[in-house]
Amino acid sequence: MTLADHGYIEVRGAREHTLKNIDVDIPKHQLTVVTGVSGSGKSSLVFDTLAAESQRQLNATFSAFAQSRLPSYGQPDVDRMANLCAVTVVDQKRLGGARSTVGTATDIGARLRLIYSRAGRPFAGYSNAFSFNDPQGMCPRCQGLGVVSVVDETQLVDRDRSLDDGALTFPAFGVGQWFWRSYARSGFFDPSVPLREYSDEQWRILMYAEQGELKAPNPDVTSYEGVIARFHRLYLHKEPESFKGKTREAFERIVTRGTCPDCGGTRLAEAARSSLINGLSIADLNAMQADDLVHAIRAIDDPSVAPLVQDAAEQVERLGILGLGYLSLDRATSTLSGGESQRVKMVRHLGSSLSDLLYVFDEPTVGLHPRDVHRLGELLLELRDKGNTVVVVEHDPEIMAIADHCIDMGPGAGRAGGTVTYEGPYDGLVKSETRTGQGLRAPRVSRDGDAVRTPSGHVRIEHASTHNLRDVTVDLPLGVLTVVTGVAGSGKSSLIRGHLPAVRPDVVMLDQSPVRGSRRSSPATFTGMLDPIRTLFARTTGAPAALFSPNSDGACPECQGAGVIFTDLAFMDGVTTVCEVCRGRRFKDEAQQYLVRGRSIADVFEMSVAEGLEFFTEKAIRTMLTRLSDVGLDYLTLGQTLTTLSGGERQRLKLASELVVGGRFYVLDEPTTGLHLADVEHLIALLHRLVDDGNTLIVIEHNLDVVAAADWIVDLGPGAGHDGGRVVFEGTPAALAADGSTYTGRYLARHLA
Ligand code: ADP
Ligand code: ADP
Ligand code: ZN
Ligand code: ZN
Repeated sequence: MTLADHGYIEVRGAREHTLKNIDVDIPKHQLTVVTGVSGSGKSSLVFDTLAAESQRQLNATFSAFAQSRLPSYGQPDVDRMANLCAVTVVDQKRLGGARSTVGTATDIGARLRLIYSRAGRPFAGYSNAFSFNDPQGMCPRCQGLGVVSVVDETQLVDRDRSLDDGALTFPAFGVGQWFWRSYARSGFFDPSVPLREYSDEQWRILMYAEQGELKAPNPDVTSYEGVIARFHRLYLHKEPESFKGKTREAFERIVTRGTCPDCGGTRLAEAARSSLINGLSIADLNAMQADDLVHAIRAIDDPSVAPLVQDAAEQVERLGILGLGYLSLDRATSTLSGGESQRVKMVRHLGSSLSDLLYVFDEPTVGLHPRDVHRLGELLLELRDKGNTVVVVEHDPEIMAIADHCIDMGPGAGRAGGTVTYEGPYDGLVKSETRTGQGLRAPRVSRDGDAVRTPSGHVRIEHASTHNLRDVTVDLPLGVLTVVTGVAGSGKSSLIRGHLPAVRPDVVMLDQSPVRGSRRSSPATFTGMLDPIRTLFARTTGAPAALFSPNSDGACPECQGAGVIFTDLAFMDGVTTVCEVCRGRRFKDEAQQYLVRGRSIADVFEMSVAEGLEFFTEKAIRTMLTRLSDVGLDYLTLGQTLTTLSGGERQRLKLASELVVGGRFYVLDEPTTGLHLADVEHLIALLHRLVDDGNTLIVIEHNLDVVAAADWIVDLGPGAGHDGGRVVFEGTPAALAADGSTYTGRYLARHLA
């Protein structure tokens, strides 16, 4: 079949972010892989244009009521799009919510409930009786959460303060709030007296009085209710995720959680737990890891549920195929990594019978061992063969190779990117003179035996047994580059993140987590580069240095230097709008009048790292710019808000900011996330430089080029979950490839061949 048989999704005149007015055709009912160096515009095309416009047009077909409840999408900067279909974005965003588990997120839970409602004995009624999200099925004690919440009173109030002084620490009870007034103006207390001076009776009234139990002396305060009572009634049953910002921080401090004693964490009511098939309850099945669960489900031979059994077993098998066979259905999705979350969502979609959808994926191989990449590819093809259009942003050559159609973005990043450099089949991409083509043709090298560094000592982790670890004792070498490998779920994070800080409290974890206060931070402020830049402006112009900081005197008074106005909505994602006073430039006019070599401080904030390297001659500034460029971030704008960065970009920004002194101990978790083949080489060079500067590096990584570059490898396995948790190899890359007894060894040997 040729592409034309299917028609195309047509994108005409796309200009979102750095896209240069491009036209793209995406073949329908085919698998398209979008490639290109980081910052070249892949996400701007695929997520911010294609998916955003499809979603926007889809939303526009709903009633006004429904629209008001859907996330709103701005109109992307594009002339015209044709042949769109309904879109599903399968990304790495975490699946939140205390009621979300692998079972609910994949829909496997619903299938098991149907099976138990028909074939379980004793008979428990409707399938809802097995749902912890239904009043009939949920454990009454914990309301189906599996955990019970306890309020820590010492965190809810500060006894050293008075009511007027902010003794009530939960924001909704804060000074000036309506609830605060109902205490401070109740007439029960002197609002200027610290709580610790209250009589026992005053304390009881403040904290525990039930609603309607007491009449406040001040008649304006109706239906008085104590702080704890009110907190229990209004907030305790909520999930931390339903709050944002300060309220969420306070909630997490005040409320601590433990396993529910009634249901043992299974979330289910007694009746649901006592209905059995083959001697197993639905809670038993929910606790099994997927690899075992398949067998338990297939063993259900009641003919009345045969089609359901087949369907459920296939869904559970897909978890295994995607390298998630170590997960259990009762695992809370909030504990999954970004890559795991994306693959769990994929299982749900594979089980759906909808077709003619547009599926959009964001680097689905993240966190996946080379062993499992091939099978992931097969499932992408399965999704296509169900009649869907599949578009994948990906750096893994194995996924590029199975594409029906490739779109390469570039040639560079940021303003040097934004054009289509290649469109067509994979064969042509490999032969093309794009950076992707060059990267695909480059020979794969391993460090030769002599170049491997000698450690300066060791740090030992002893008897580690978190999660699936089997009493692991391992020596990690100091002063060298160690790569920790193993299939997903083998125990890499459990070992390194779970145990290293206990034996090396000074270890620095450079991960992909958000940066604190990132709404007002930018690469310039985060890296400390702003200090020498401010000094330069002050020295050249004679104005005070503080004028050149967006977090100080130079700040636009309207937005306080954020460039945007953020409206915090307690229960929803906030809304961001560009500041009208400074038009997003962050600085007040006065600060923008002073120029260095013809540029204002606001101009500097709009420069990319690469442009900064052309503009600045000052050593201190160039050093940091060079580091940012070394980690593959030369397209970033110096003033770009950190909340707009991807996880991989955040991690590399942290890495660049850290490279200062020797003698430190760093852990990196999959630093190649989001990196193009060509950028991986730079990253490896940088890792070596770090070690040469006297640092110790531990890198959790699947990328075989990084594995090959290590001085030492610790391979965990042999499999995942209860089939993993052991150290299966320790040694050099050459020895690992020669050994061949582990998955990593076999794939490394193949990669280097
Ligand atoms: P890729 O997906 O190929 O890594 P992106 O499409 O994310 O590239 O980025 C292309 C360019 O657009 C980069 O210069 C990036 O800094 C810029 N960019 C991306 N998102 C935003 C945003 N929300 N605000 C401003 N610039 C952005
Ligand atoms: P890796 O880092 O190699 O992918 P992990 O250390 O994340 O492996 O997982 C090892 C095992 O521990 C898996 O069986 C996984 O399901 C389990 N595990 C990891 N994190 C949690 C958690 N927060 N709660 C329960 N089990 C977990
Ligand atoms: Zn319970
Ligand atoms: Zn402003």
